[in-house]
Amino acid sequence: MKAEQRELFGESSPVSEAGLFVDLVFDRPLDQAYSYAVPDELTGQVAVGKRVLAPFGKGERATVGYCIRVGTSPPSRAVKAIRQVLDEDALLTPELLRLTRWMADYYLCAWGQVLNAVIPGAVRRQAGKRATVLLEPLAETELPPSPPTLTVKQEVALSSLRRIGRPVEARKLARSAGCGLGVVHELVSKGYARRVRTRVERWSADRDVLESSDQEHFELNADQLQAWQSIEQSMSAGGFQCFLLHGVTGSGKTEVYLRAIETVVSQGKQALVLVPEISLTPQTIQYFRGRYRDVAVLHSHLGSAERGGQWRRIAAGQAPVIVGARSAVFAPATRLGLVVIDEEHESSFKQETTPRYHARDVAIMRARMANIPVILGSATPSLESWHHAQNGMYQLLSLPSRVMDRPLPQVGLIDMRHEGMSRGRFHAISPSLERAIREALRSGGQIILLLNRRGFSTHIHCPACGHVSTCRFCDIALTYHRTRQVLLCHSCGYEKDPESRCPNCDKTSVLYQGLGTEKLQAEIEEKFPQTVVRRMDSDSMKKPGSHRQVLEAFRQGLVHILLGTQMIAKGLDFPNVTLVGVINADIGAHIPDFRAAERTFQLLSQVAGRAGRGPRGGKVLIQTFNPEQPSIALAAKHDYQTFVSVETGHRKLHQYPPFQRLVRIIVRGRDRAMAGLFADKLAAALNKMVPALGRSAGSVVRVLGPAEAPVFRLKGYFRFHLQLQSASSAALHQVLRATLPRLKPPSGVEYTVDVDPLTML
Ligand code: ADP
Ligand code: ZN
Repeated sequence: MKAEQRELFGESSPVSEAGLFVDLVFDRPLDQAYSYAVPDELTGQVAVGKRVLAPFGKGERATVGYCIRVGTSPPSRAVKAIRQVLDEDALLTPELLRLTRWMADYYLCAWGQVLNAVIPGAVRRQAGKRATVLLEPLAETELPPSPPTLTVKQEVALSSLRRIGRPVEARKLARSAGCGLGVVHELVSKGYARRVRTRVERWSADRDVLESSDQEHFELNADQLQAWQSIEQSMSAGGFQCFLLHGVTGSGKTEVYLRAIETVVSQGKQALVLVPEISLTPQTIQYFRGRYRDVAVLHSHLGSAERGGQWRRIAAGQAPVIVGARSAVFAPATRLGLVVIDEEHESSFKQETTPRYHARDVAIMRARMANIPVILGSATPSLESWHHAQNGMYQLLSLPSRVMDRPLPQVGLIDMRHEGMSRGRFHAISPSLERAIREALRSGGQIILLLNRRGFSTHIHCPACGHVSTCRFCDIALTYHRTRQVLLCHSCGYEKDPESRCPNCDKTSVLYQGLGTEKLQAEIEEKFPQTVVRRMDSDSMKKPGSHRQVLEAFRQGLVHILLGTQMIAKGLDFPNVTLVGVINADIGAHIPDFRAAERTFQLLSQVAGRAGRGPRGGKVLIQTFNPEQPSIALAAKHDYQTFVSVETGHRKLHQYPPFQRLVRIIVRGRDRAMAGLFADKLAAALNKMVPALGRSAGSVVRVLGPAEAPVFRLKGYFRFHLQLQSASSAALHQVLRATLPRLKPPSGVEYTVDVDPLTML
């Protein structure tokens, strides 16, 4: 037993000499396993991958632990006994146990924390199952020599029960035998049947399967065929291989995935498809269901009964195709043959709470462990994936043009330095964009307008003293939401009443400036009174199903102009959209984050890709104050390659990913000085460790900071951050592993470790 463990339990633990022992991990930041004895009455129930209750920590409170090993060799010291086994079936396959162990190592957190995050709450609670009592017939041999006689009705019920051949609910038996419940219960009291307690599924997949429709099969075009043949070759050779499918928007990437999925399914294996939550639209789901009647869909709006039911169905090997967002990477498929990650560049694949994993990277590791192929697809691959494809780690497949020889839409830039003002007032819509909208409407086309900022006014300030309304708890400006009549913090949700006089100088009335989607909607409705306008952002899409409703109305042509945040930029395939407008391409460009340009390029390319997907063609107009910015100018030319080479140059110069690996540590506390002090201590300790452990293959770990985080105050905490950089991920891990467990933050201060961070704020 380890020293820490001794501390936790004291020395007076009872000894168990023979029998079964288990190792448990707990949902605590302590990354180690603890040994326990298994009392005789539980030996039949324990298994790796189940949860048990065991005494743990101060006061030896019964605590849930995950069983990660079962064995007969007794630990070297006396151990306590577990108290209860919580699960009927193991929640985790051996494969998922290995994967989560790797995650704990890589993302520098505890295995128990990973397990707890990976298994949906619904599954842990056994949601979707209900306790019930079933009736089971006794075998002839179990009956007494002269059993009581039965009435005719009871005879009928008994023969029904025997014919069914498995335990059945009393209600169902009564129905199938055409008798009352009383008759059925008599079978028990007369000793012909017995009651068995069990749990049954409340949710069934049948409903979904019925929804599906048949979908046409396309002949693959030459590019698709070439991509597919490379994948097919690798699939028949077997083994792990990572493909990067780089295909422009509308190039038919999905069709290539489907071909690969078909092959895997026909071999009796399961395929896992990860898509960003935002693209998990009814349309996408329908696309897959059209091909495979049985598609298990996992997303965040599932009711817990369905979530639990789906999980168990997948675990039982019943779902051949599994489609889901980030956390679906942990779907308990036992016969996995292929993993697909669509829109691999999307930042929503990264989880921003512990464990801070990236589903793409976890999926690749899962495929590697299962020795199967994985396909990453994108029109704008992340620089990391592109880099790996360039150096041969991934195999690059290209779909350089749209299907059916459809051209990519023509993209025009509107320079807002010249076009933004008219009649002394700033307009969200420039005259050029306004003309284009009228033209599109006149010819019966539909329009998508992107403004990646919600609310009405985004900047509320006093012209006399310069005071800006910010959140009480965050260094973040408040946004005015007109519909709800509040000033709102988009970070922590703090809200207050709109103010008219400056709270600072009380001299003048404050100005409400800056453009959000609510204001854009008002301006559009004023300019185009005859048209139907719908807004899609997280404010207007709060009700479940509203997303689906709006998109369906848009599909049917009942909505002419769809405007919204990035929610509308991705994945939508509406052939009648002939115009896409970007209201302000510069949002996001000034964020202090080395990925800002990459994100701008991706967002503009994605939203431009919504135009001209049908035979009528289409165009895109982008309003910007910085038309020369490479991320904007090159997105307008659909020139990914040049953008990547420009951006790669910057990254190389500044030693950022993909050339260096990053780990970011955020220290936070309500007391500014204490948090700062601990950040200093942490930096000193890390720096001290570098000479011994921070070198690998010629690369040295650099420790940058501590510094105040760009958003210094967030949700009432003061935040400092540190960055560790190295070309070697191993060196980074060595330094951190040797340092972090020795440093305990003082009470009131905490820190998080973010490996391969995506956000730098
Ligand atoms: P991407 O994901 O690359 O943007 P999609 O997979 O959504 O593109 O395909 C765009 C459209 O083209 C879809 O409506 C799809 O049904 C259609 N499509 C795909 N492959 C073909 C093909 N070989 N021939 C004709 N249409 C195709
Ligand atoms: Zn706030």
